[in-house]
Amino acid sequence: AKDNGKQRVARYHLEMDLHSVEEVRLGAQLRHAIDASEMHLVYQPIVELPDGRMVGVEALVRWQHPQHGLVSPGLFIPVAERNGLIVTLGEWILREACQQAARWQNGPGSQHLRRISVNVSARQLREPDFAATVAGILRATGLEPERLVVEVTETAVFDGGAALESVWALHRLGVTIALDDFGTGHSSLGLLRTCPANILKVDKSFVDEVGGGSDQDVIATALIQIAGGLRLDAIAEGVESAGQADHLHRIGYRYAQGFHFARPVPAAEITELLRAEAAG
Ligand code: C2E
Ligand code: CA
Ligand code: CA
Ligand code: CA
Repeated sequence: AKDNGKQRVARYHLEMDLHSVEEVRLGAQLRHAIDASEMHLVYQPIVELPDGRMVGVEALVRWQHPQHGLVSPGLFIPVAERNGLIVTLGEWILREACQQAARWQNGPGSQHLRRISVNVSARQLREPDFAATVAGILRATGLEPERLVVEVTETAVFDGGAALESVWALHRLGVTIALDDFGTGHSSLGLLRTCPANILKVDKSFVDEVGGGSDQDVIATALIQIAGGLRLDAIAEGVESAGQADHLHRIGYRYAQGFHFARPVPAAEITELLRAEAAG
C-alpha cells in the first residue's frame, strides 16, 4: 500500500508539473503529430494462465517525437485530454487498432487472438455520438463487435451521465467492456451494478503484492472471487515474475498481462506469433 502511494505521487508530478508554456507547446505539437504520422500503436499480449498462451492484445499508443524521441502516453494523453485533442487522437487510435485487428481476424492463427483492447478516455465517452463513431469504424473495417474491447476507467464512468450512456450504447452494439485499473477508483464495487462490464482488469498495485499477505494481496484474492461470482473475466495487470503468475493462477486468475509474459510490440511481431501458432 505504501508503494502504491509513492507511485501515485510520482505520476501526479509527471502529469501536473508541466508548465503551462510547455503544455501549450506540447499540445500544438500533438495536433501536428497525428497528421505527420508520428503516432503509432504497439500491442501487448494478454495471455491465459498458466501456460502464457496469447488470447488477445491491448493496443497502446506511442509518439515518436522528432526531437524528444519516444514520449510516454502517461505524459501526452493527459495533455490531449485537457486540450480536447484526445477526441481526434482517440478516433485515429480506434480506427488504426480496428483495421489491424480485422487483418488478424481474417489471417492465420486468428483463433489465438479473440479480442483487441483499446483504451478510451472519459472525454471521448462524453462525446454524444461516440458509440455511433465506433459503429462506423466497425462497419468500415469489418471487425466483429465482440472482438473489440473498450477499456474504460472507473473514474471515467462513475459519475454516470453521458460517459456511462456511451458505455451502454457500446454494450448494445455488442462491443466488450473492460473496467481498467480496477480497484483503484472510488466506486469500484458500486460500478459493477450500473456499468455493463464484461472484464475486470485488476490493477498492477494489487498484483505487485499478490501472495505477500498484505492488504493488497487480500484485495487481489477477493476481486477474483467477485469476478467469478458475477461471471466476469478478470485479467491481472502488470505481472512481472513467474512467482506472481503462479500465485495468481493458484487463487483463480485465468488471464494475465505483463512484462513477465510479453512487452508491447509492433503489429508485425504479433502477426509473426499468430503465424507460428497457426503452423503448430
Ligand atoms: P494502462 O491502460 O493501464 O496500460 C498499461 C500500461 O502498463 C502500459 O503503459 C504498459 O506498457 C504497462 N505495462 C504492461 N505490463 C507491465 C509490467 O509488467 N510492468 C510495468 N511496470 N508496466 C507494465 P503505457 O503504454 O506507457 O501506457 C500508460 C497509460 O497511458 C495506459 O495505462 C493508459 O492509461 C494510457 N494509454 C496508453 N495508450 C493509450 C491510448 O491509446 N488511448 C488512451 N486513451 N490512453 C492510453
Ligand atoms: Ca488499459
Ligand atoms: Ca490498466
Ligand atoms: Ca493505468
